[in-house]
Amino acid sequence: MCLQHHRDCFCGRRSAHLTFRDNILSPEILVNLYCPECRPAVHWDADSMVEDCGWVLELDIPAAQLSFQKKGIHRQVTPAYLFDEGYLSWQGLSPVDAEVNAEIHQRLEPLAKENMQQYLQALKKEWLAHVAQLKAAGWRKAQNAL
Ligand SMILES: [Zn+2]
Repeated sequence: MCLQHHRDCFCGRRSAHLTFRDNILSPEILVNLYCPECRPAVHWDADSMVEDCGWVLELDIPAAQLSFQKKGIHRQVTPAYLFDEGYLSWQGLSPVDAEVNAEIHQRLEPLAKENMQQYLQALKKEWLAHVAQLKAAGWRKAQNAL
């Protein structure tokens, strides 16, 4: 089971859907979230931050480390490790994947009533096109997705 969470970015113009693999970390570990628009205000710190296509996640690494220890997992955590392994990461492959997924389903829904097989094929095709687009744009989680 994974906790899911919705968070506004620092400037409040954008938001992201997040997921927490195995519920080891809690939403408080994400100290700040910056979208590409508020990204220029960030004082980059590689020890606490990870970047994905202009979005920056600032994490409380000492608290994350403690959360891992409490679960009996003794390993050094880094922002990139926590993000790439899904312990505190986008729900899906990008901050808005949950919305894109819902939008595709909603748009194709009329087809589901007409022809279920065509609907499922169209769904798959649209989703793969979306993932290919994310991969080309350089989103971290999309790199190994196809
Ligand atoms: Zn922002």
